Amino acid sequence: MNYEPVIGLEIHAELQTNSKMFCGCPVVDNTTADPNIAVCPVCAGMPGMLPVANQRAIEYGIKVALALGCKINPRSIFARKNYFYPDLPKGYQISQYEEPLARHGIAKIRTSQGEREIRVRRVHLEEDTGKLTHEEEGTLVDLNRAGVPLLEIVSEPDIRSAEEARAYAETLRNILKYLGVNSGNMQKGVMRIEPNVSIRPVGTDEFGTRTEIKNLNSFRALERGIAYEIKRQAEILDSGGQVRQETVGWDEGKQATFIQRSKEGEEDYRYFPEPDLPPLVVADDWVTEIQAGLPELPTAKRNRFQEQYQLNEYNADVLVAEHEIADYFEAVVIATPKVDVKTIANWLTGELFGLMNESGETITTQKVSPAALGELLQVIQEGVINQTTAKSVLVAMFETGQSAAEIVEARSLRQVSDVDQISSLIATVLTENPDSVAAYLGGKEGLINWFFGQVMRAAKGKANPQVVRDELARQLAAHQ
Ligand code: ADP
Ligand code: ZN
Ligand code: MG
Repeated sequence: MNYEPVIGLEIHAELQTNSKMFCGCPVVDNTTADPNIAVCPVCAGMPGMLPVANQRAIEYGIKVALALGCKINPRSIFARKNYFYPDLPKGYQISQYEEPLARHGIAKIRTSQGEREIRVRRVHLEEDTGKLTHEEEGTLVDLNRAGVPLLEIVSEPDIRSAEEARAYAETLRNILKYLGVNSGNMQKGVMRIEPNVSIRPVGTDEFGTRTEIKNLNSFRALERGIAYEIKRQAEILDSGGQVRQETVGWDEGKQATFIQRSKEGEEDYRYFPEPDLPPLVVADDWVTEIQAGLPELPTAKRNRFQEQYQLNEYNADVLVAEHEIADYFEAVVIATPKVDVKTIANWLTGELFGLMNESGETITTQKVSPAALGELLQVIQEGVINQTTAKSVLVAMFETGQSAAEIVEARSLRQVSDVDQISSLIATVLTENPDSVAAYLGGKEGLINWFFGQVMRAAKGKANPQVVRDELARQLAAHQ
């Protein structure tokens, strides 16, 4: 039978504020900080301690919700989600349940199938848990992460393939990064994805029973996990069985899902309103102010880049993927109005990205400033150096941080455009190769490239290629 996948995503993103959600402890890098250096009685769950909501975290949450076109709930409620686990010292997590921060948003995604809108069901605030490390002698707990602000973004079950799920998650990650609320660094676990997956016979409306894959922290695992579940569920249905509603984990080594718990046995969280926190009242004025301060978001920027700079879709996509790259690109455009925008885009995404990839540098850590790249493209355009030389100049700029002019001078790379000089080089090459000249004149026109190569070699690669071509054609014609 042919099945259609139905997928909804729950995404947890840390809000990278200075302090935690309900206390003054700093938010530290969980992968590098010593354990339990950022813990106080509140986030350690001592009795009698009172939480105070972090205003910046609420602002960040509203930013994300607005960027997704959600409606902000003027009065949302913090709720206790009760369960016992050693990484949760209070015995409950403060979250939002019946009245979340925001609802009814849209994320626009793009895949090889084109553009689609995925509805966002809700966005709510909560707090992260601590972290357990299982050692041979026992289990260790680190509470640095306990109480870190967390935003949960839940989609409607509108997603229809693993590819779409990935596009949706990447779109959200880019938005979070653009807003400056999350680094998007998946390896550090600051964004975790939980896809809910079911399948149904193509052409039917009713949803099938879903499974939920817990805590994925890479896009690859997301795609593979979903693909695995789709196949597994199809095999069950094809053999006459029934999918059970389960929570599953993803085993990276086996590239397979495994059952964590069945939904029937899932804890009853006994949600109730958090008695230690008042309802979260968000004034309209504040929402308006945050809305007005939103930066240009990736989709809008991509459309503007395509229109304003006539960039192709690929280049526009690559350039807006990180807002630092988009800013860099526009800084080069402004610094060098005389250089064609497409040339700038090609050098940036081709040559500079190549060097960044090889070295592991990012656009913000690498040494070539926008003005310096602009200057390099300018000297190519002026004919001071040719393309081939320019590539090696860029490598030197990348390594040393020197300007194009400094490198061109220091290595005497300035290209020879002087016609007399080039002319005499050509005359020498032709005189030394009478047989080739005769062959060329006899009809082997392809030899022109060989002559070109000889002249360039004699000029140590520094001759202006256009002048060489013109002058070569002229002298060969004169031999006839
Ligand atoms: P829970 O909180 O129990 O996980 P929700 O109803 O909040 O359940 O749904 C969580 C996610 O599961 C949402 O993203 C939703 O779109 C998705 N979802 C719900 N039903 C299905 C289904 N039958 N197949 C796939 N995804 C589903
Ligand atoms: Zn604390
Ligand atoms: Mg769920």
